Formats: sequence, C-alpha cells, structure tokens
Amino acid sequence: MSELIEKLKNTHQLTDDELLRFLAEPQPEDELFAAADELRREFYGDAVYLRGLIEFTNYCKNNCYYCGIRAGNPHAERYRLTDAQILSCCAEGYSLGYRTFVLQGGEDPYYTDDKICAIVSAIAKQHPDCRITLSIGEKSRESYQRYYDAGARRYLLRHETADPTHYRRLHPESLSLENRKRCLFDLKAIGYQVGSGFMIGSPYQTNDCLRQDIRFLQELQPAMIGVGPYITHSETPFADQPSGDLHFSLKIIALLRLMFPKALIPATTAFGSMHPQGRELALKAGGNVMMPNLSPTAVRKLYDLYENKICTGEEATQCKGCLERRIQAAGYRIVTDVGDSLVPTAAAEPCGAIRGKE
Ligand code: SAH
Repeated sequence: MSELIEKLKNTHQLTDDELLRFLAEPQPEDELFAAADELRREFYGDAVYLRGLIEFTNYCKNNCYYCGIRAGNPHAERYRLTDAQILSCCAEGYSLGYRTFVLQGGEDPYYTDDKICAIVSAIAKQHPDCRITLSIGEKSRESYQRYYDAGARRYLLRHETADPTHYRRLHPESLSLENRKRCLFDLKAIGYQVGSGFMIGSPYQTNDCLRQDIRFLQELQPAMIGVGPYITHSETPFADQPSGDLHFSLKIIALLRLMFPKALIPATTAFGSMHPQGRELALKAGGNVMMPNLSPTAVRKLYDLYENKICTGEEATQCKGCLERRIQAAGYRIVTDVGDSLVPTAAAEPCGAIRGKE
C-alpha cells in the first residue's frame, strides 16, 4: 500500500509536506477508497443517513462570485415558501421516514429572527422526534442562540475556503473569512452540531488552500464536513472558469474520511450533478450521508446554485425510491433515525471555558 495511505489509515494525520504531496501526486484510487470505506464501516457500518433538504428561499443579499442565486444575478427567478408549504414538506418527509429536516436558503432579510424562530418552533411542535437543521448563512451569536432556543440543533455553514487571500477572490468586500469563522465557533459554543466544508476546484484554489481547509477543520472539529466539486454557473462573474474535477473531488472525500474517521460526510448533490453515479462514488470513497430534496417540485429548478443541478424534476417520494435503490446498489443501507455524529458537541463537554456564561 502507498506510504501516505498507510500513514493516513494508521494515524489519521499527515504533516503539511505530506498533505501537499498527497494532493499533488496521483494516488491509487482502489487502495485509497478501500482504506476510507474500511474506516467508515468501523465507526458507522453500512449506514447512510438521510437528511431531508428544504430549500425555502432563493432570495439572497450576498454576492458570492461563484453562486447562481447571488443578489447580482438579475435573471434568477426568486421564490419563497410559505410557512404552510415548509410544514407540509416536513410532513411529507416525515411520512417517508425522514427524521432530520434541513432548512436551507439564501441570506434573505425577509426572514427575520422572529419568523425563523416561528418556523423552527412550529416544526419542533409538529415533529418532536425530529432534528431541525438550519443553513441560512451568517448571523449574530444572539440570533443563533434564539434559533437554538426555538429548537434548532444543527447548523450547516461551509467556511468555503480557509485561505484569506482565496476567500477575497471568491467573495465581495462585505464578507470576510473572520466573520465566517466567528459564526462557526459561536454555533459550536452554543451547542449546535455544526457542519462546515468547502467547494473543490473553485476558481483560484491551490493545493495549499486545501491544506489550510484541512487544518481549519481540524481546529473546528465539525460534526459534518460537506464538500463537493465547484460547478460553473453562466450568470456569475466566474462564467468562464472551469468546474472542479470529479476524481480529484473523490480523492478529497477519501482524505477527509481518513483524517476525520467519525465525521458525517455527505455525498452531495454537486457530485451527482457532475456524473450520473457521482453520489454513489462519493459514498464508496467514504461518504455516509445523503440530503435528498423535499422542496416542492415547482420551485426546485429555481434554487439554481450551479448548472445542471440534479433532482429538480421529481416528487419527494420518487427521490426517496431512487435513492434507496442507488444506496443499496452501492452496498450500503439507508438509516432513517436522527443519525447523530459521533463527534461530541461543545456544549456536551464539561468545558467551562466553552460553556461561558452558564
Ligand atoms: N446561504 C447559505 C447556503 C448557501 S448554498 C450559506 O451561506 O451557508 C450551500 C452551498 O452551496 C454553499 O455553501 C456553497 O459551498 C455551495 N455552492 C454555491 N455555489 C456553488 C457552485 N457554483 N458550485 C458548487 N457548489 C456551490
């Protein structure tokens, strides 16, 4: 077995030099994916956890240069789901077996903290045995605390890139890596199970950016690490930049599994959009979560982060059946419980410094 894969398998660590070498040199895919799969089975068996994704608004006040729903895209047709529509997505998801709902959206000022809290409390009341996840961007610590008090327990916020210079090249002046990191540490300190991550092959990304991403994740220790290939959208300033590479992205999934054995690692929609079996390949490279879409079919095409996004035509029931078949064919098993990560949350640890004001 290659020396670096062997070291990753045994120690879950690489030095900076080794990491850069791992990224730059071709690795034997069979060996790499087998090592990642073995480790994933050690902690999680053949389980694939499902999270029902509800994309509830595509309005966004931000202007991230890579994203199709950026404020500066005048051709994006905007939509918002009503509270009743969101609750009915959850009810349908519940009847299909989902026990985690992820509410994701652009940073839409229409949804004040009061409105978010009302939606979260309503879902918590309707489905007390489910986990509620939010993915609505950068907020103040007070806002995050309010959502938590209303019943949200998980939060997804990719750091996007941990290299400050790279961060500047992907985002306008109004956004900063410092604030992104502040948000992630605030979320952890409140007690959320936090998901972070980055795009693979985003414009101007170097292997050293990826090295910094890994080091940042080691510092943050998130419960979930969400990554996927960057995919070009024609209505963005990056219209002429190439998309990320599927095989390099799979290599990153395997690297993450080997370095973060207990993390939840989704086989993201971006993988499926790059290749018909992209998500299955991501599972076989170490992934153990899938996030099928529960949004109403009529709005799915409009949550247009990147081009050729999959699963924009089906109903939720069709999505579930399709996924079930794909997951089984790949050699894994759908698990419908809440599927907690094995990474402890900050609040669960007896750490006075983190618990702060309590
Ligand atoms: N507003 C929320 C949700 C953003 S959309 C937030 O800020 O967290 C979810 C993720 O989609 C982003 O974090 C980004 O990593 C990814 N994404 C956006 N544009 C993309 C593109 N062109 N290709 C691949 N992934 C993209």
